[in-house]
Amino acid sequence: MDIQFLGTGAGQPSKARNVSSLALKLLDEINEVWLFDCGEGTQNRILETTIRPRKVSKIFITHLHGDHIFGLPGFLSSRAFQANEEQTDLDIYGPQGIKSFVLTSLRVSGSRLPYRIHFHEFDQDSLGKILETDKFTVYAEELDHTIFCVGYRVMQKDLEGTLDAEKLKAAGVPFGPLFGKIKNGQDVVLEDGTQINASDYISAPRPGKIIAILGDTRKTNASVRLAVNADVLVHESTYGKGDEKIARNHGHSTNMQAAQVAEEAGVKRLLLNHISARFLSKDISQLKKDAASVFENVHVVKDLEEVEL
Ligand SMILES: [Zn+2]
Repeated sequence: MDIQFLGTGAGQPSKARNVSSLALKLLDEINEVWLFDCGEGTQNRILETTIRPRKVSKIFITHLHGDHIFGLPGFLSSRAFQANEEQTDLDIYGPQGIKSFVLTSLRVSGSRLPYRIHFHEFDQDSLGKILETDKFTVYAEELDHTIFCVGYRVMQKDLEGTLDAEKLKAAGVPFGPLFGKIKNGQDVVLEDGTQINASDYISAPRPGKIIAILGDTRKTNASVRLAVNADVLVHESTYGKGDEKIARNHGHSTNMQAAQVAEEAGVKRLLLNHISARFLSKDISQLKKDAASVFENVHVVKDLEEVEL
């Protein structure tokens, strides 16, 4: 499981940073990629990665500001141009209005897609658990921005323990149906009367990963709730230390506020994105340094950077 950042800038693209988008790569887990936001030029960034558009099965939108959604019509259209590949359906989750934006763009431009899009729109009253599959659950909660905006909490379900085949062989269990029984948690008795307790040969279940990916927001308790005990929190840092007042006025956060959220939520790792173009590289090291005085395990991400979870 990896997160690859496709656009880490705030508001408008710069030479170094494109507008918002990131890919949660779940290739080993479910052979899918989930996109979070899709700013203009996201498809160009994808060309610089190994991500295949057809593998993008779900897109989660945090809010309807242009720097988070203007890449959708282009991406969705290009995804259709994979002639030899199977055309798979796609799900889009986002605030009410996303369906009309996408369908209007496609209709006005005469674009016809050879695959289906299933829209899952929500508003203030229909948040909470928005998706559950056999491997993942996704929750959305409202943040505090200038328009309706959400954050997502992606929870991988606990992973089953694995069977220790070597240990079973050593215990004299013949390879075959007995292995299957033990794997299913059943205790068995061998022909020579040896009792085999399944639990001795299956490792404990491993907890699934928790990933919190937030949209634009002022500092709010909802962010902390979404991020509780997360393995990684992706939080905006449009402003730097000392800019708290202007951040509040514009519906955004500073690096220090993001670090406070990480600290309060007890996350393992904090990744800062949505970085203003006015920050030069020396400012970026300062952003990190200042944030680290509140929450140590923090990193300011770059476009195309990949982070393993
Ligand atoms: Zn915004």
